[in-house]
Amino acid sequence: MLTFDRLEELRDWRATIAASESLGFVPTMGALHEGHVALVRRARSENDRVAVSIFVNPVQFGPDEDFDQYPRRREEDQARLLDAGADCLWFGQASEMYPPGFATKISLPSLTRTLCGPQRPGHFEGVATVVLKLFNLFRPQRAYFGRKDFQQCVVIDRLVRDLDLALEVVACPTVRESSGLARSSRNLRLTPRGQEAASILYRSLRQAAVAFGTGKTEASTLVASAALAIAREPLVHLEYLELVDPVGLMAVERAADDSVLAVAAKVESVRLIDNITLGDEVHSLRQD
Ligand code: AMP
Repeated sequence: MLTFDRLEELRDWRATIAASESLGFVPTMGALHEGHVALVRRARSENDRVAVSIFVNPVQFGPDEDFDQYPRRREEDQARLLDAGADCLWFGQASEMYPPGFATKISLPSLTRTLCGPQRPGHFEGVATVVLKLFNLFRPQRAYFGRKDFQQCVVIDRLVRDLDLALEVVACPTVRESSGLARSSRNLRLTPRGQEAASILYRSLRQAAVAFGTGKTEASTLVASAALAIAREPLVHLEYLELVDPVGLMAVERAADDSVLAVAAKVESVRLIDNITLGDEVHSLRQD
């Protein structure tokens, strides 16, 4: 696996890939865990070459957010990616990504008015802008994202369609701890007690899926009972719990198979998110 920091090295590496070869690309912010590794393995199985970026993108963090505390683990990340079969790892540098005079912002206002959008002003603009830059630098045939960050997947998918980018966005399932807690680099900042408490998020989403599976479709009822379960856990402070349609991310009144129940909460001041697609979850519950 080739590892480099400079954009020039990345451009040189990209130039070695033949037009007939496919490149799978996994953008990350590092502190890699099994969720990231699953994306890399999927990319490995579907492409001739696999590239991973690690860049803690300053412009997607708000002034009161955890940019400074975000975990950075260069050596461990390198070892994991070597094992997962990546060909290239590039560590982005803010000075090269945003040189003096940088002025462009990509925004998708209609997709960022709900869910995390209002809580994190400017976040998705920062994400969309950096992802478009990364797509232009890596020029992948396929790019891999995790459904854990559902709104991000929708935003990137829309960006690719709207701007006629010639690549496929592959949304991959959320990898979880055995407790059900979605794997996240931010889980590293939770105490064991906090991790345990945080598992209520997925359990409450599943509980709503069970209710949906028994025929309850009124969104307010599904949301209220999940919110009640979360409220009983004193370490978890709910930010939002919303049932939305998977394309426009607008709140729905009646749940359907493709409706997404999404949650954000703070646990020990760490912000966590999770979501499920009701129909998929009912299907997997029946298989359990
Ligand atoms: P991040 O490093 O948090 O920016 O995440 C990089 C990519 O990994 C994003 O596409 C995330 O959605 C994805 N990802 C993060 N956690 C998980 C998880 N638990 N399961 C699957 N994908 C994930």
